[in-house]
Amino acid sequence: MQHYIFPYLGQRLFASRFALLTLLFTCCAVSTVAQQTPRKIYISADMEGIVGVVTNEQLGPQGFEYQRFREFMTQDVNAAIEGAFAGGATQIVVSDSHGNGQSLLFEKLPSNVLIVRAWPRPLGMMEGIDATFAGAIFIGYHAGTSNPQGVRAHTLSSARLTDVKLNDRSVSEAGLNAAIAGHFNVPVIMVSGDDVVVKETKALLGDVEGATVKWALGFHSAATMTPQASYILIRDTAKKAVERIKDFKVFKLTTPVKLDVSFKNYRPSELLSYLSIIQRPDSHSIRFVGKDMIEVSKFLTFINNYEPGLEP
Ligand SMILES: [Zn+2]
Repeated sequence: MQHYIFPYLGQRLFASRFALLTLLFTCCAVSTVAQQTPRKIYISADMEGIVGVVTNEQLGPQGFEYQRFREFMTQDVNAAIEGAFAGGATQIVVSDSHGNGQSLLFEKLPSNVLIVRAWPRPLGMMEGIDATFAGAIFIGYHAGTSNPQGVRAHTLSSARLTDVKLNDRSVSEAGLNAAIAGHFNVPVIMVSGDDVVVKETKALLGDVEGATVKWALGFHSAATMTPQASYILIRDTAKKAVERIKDFKVFKLTTPVKLDVSFKNYRPSELLSYLSIIQRPDSHSIRFVGKDMIEVSKFLTFINNYEPGLEP
């Protein structure tokens, strides 16, 4: 559309009879073109906060319900895609950010999105984001590890980590990933998951749009919507979020960024403390100071992925 506006108005500009009127049209056209600049939305998709997910049975290839719940994860993501496009998004990148990073049934996503798959990747659950994006949406997210409530509440690894802090504040994955988005001046505009992650994320980031698809009863239990209901809710919430995209604040940390990680076990902190860039404030914890969130994200990816037996 925008290619036709300027040549048409250019001819009219020289017709004196319509010069003033055309000038007004030109101004309108400029603002129309401004609105038509690409509006890129980044969608990071996790699984614990997908409709119906309550235990490990839905969360990995060993679980008896995993294959079915890949469908529901894909549906929740498709709902966000449909809503975001309806709200004015022009390009969408989706990152498959749970477990093995290969949970989404990508043949069931529309042809006009790109999908980031598998690990490791330097920006983790936010790989592929950059300063050209207008907003980030978190689908299927869960509360952080320091929250006593929330279905499958953890940060990065429920088996290995007991806390992750940025600049002295415990963060959830939503907080961590909002800070990565914030590095690029991209605001988080929406989160979906249980009632706890929606509340926790709003407390950290302010008035982001929230789609509560289930209500936590415990670490492994919830009252949940059906997939049909979550589809409608997520689609409508994503649409609203993109429509009011100018309202959202960027979550930007002061630099350098101090990262504190606490492990469940002794040896990770002991071995990491051999490196001169690492401090060990207590037996189970390490501290790393990165020049920005990119360094911090790469460091987190390293400590959560490195092992000497890696092949290939
Ligand atoms: Zn997660």
